[in-house]
Amino acid sequence: MTELIRCYIGLGSNLDDPRAQVERALRELAHLPETEQVAHSSLYRSDPVGPPGQPDYINAVVCLDTYLEAHALLDELQALERLHQRVRLERWGPRTLDLDLLLYGTQTIDSERLQVPHPYLGEREFVLWPLAEIAPGLKLPDGRLLDNMLEQCPMGTLERMPV
Ligand code: ATP
Ligand code: MG
Ligand code: MG
Repeated sequence: MTELIRCYIGLGSNLDDPRAQVERALRELAHLPETEQVAHSSLYRSDPVGPPGQPDYINAVVCLDTYLEAHALLDELQALERLHQRVRLERWGPRTLDLDLLLYGTQTIDSERLQVPHPYLGEREFVLWPLAEIAPGLKLPDGRLLDNMLEQCPMGTLERMPV
């Protein structure tokens, strides 16, 4: 156990009652060891990426303060995906739960298992808009400003869901 790190995690689901999957995952993330939940965004509905014919997604972003090292946190996220019976069949195929580590403090990580900031962060409206809800004014480790990234990535068909 070392330093307390503020991190952001992107959640996505498009199988087996996606809204319930995401709501349950938010509760589970709040109970990770050595970790406290700071805030979470609203839920959003987004069009699927990847193979065609998939159901819509429900997305959200959560902010956590954690003492877990980044790879230990990834282990916890993958354990939760397994708990939700996630099965990997095809790249970007439908899933009960996807938990992506978007940002881990101001660190840049590039290991075999983990790239942070998440490589597609800047091009995904279903990540950037919920992130902006809980982290307005955020600056990325490479100096990019979230506000500028939002300008480059309009909401499009993304819908914020009523509470
Ligand atoms: P995408 O990364 O485009 O969102 P995905 O979330 O569907 O795709 P997964 O099948 O969930 O991809 O993960 C594939 C691998 O990505 C995992 O085995 C994990 O080791 C690796 N990975 C690398 N960087 C990250 C990150 N920042 N968060 C989560 N997984 C990551
Ligand atoms: Mg993903
Ligand atoms: Mg993933």
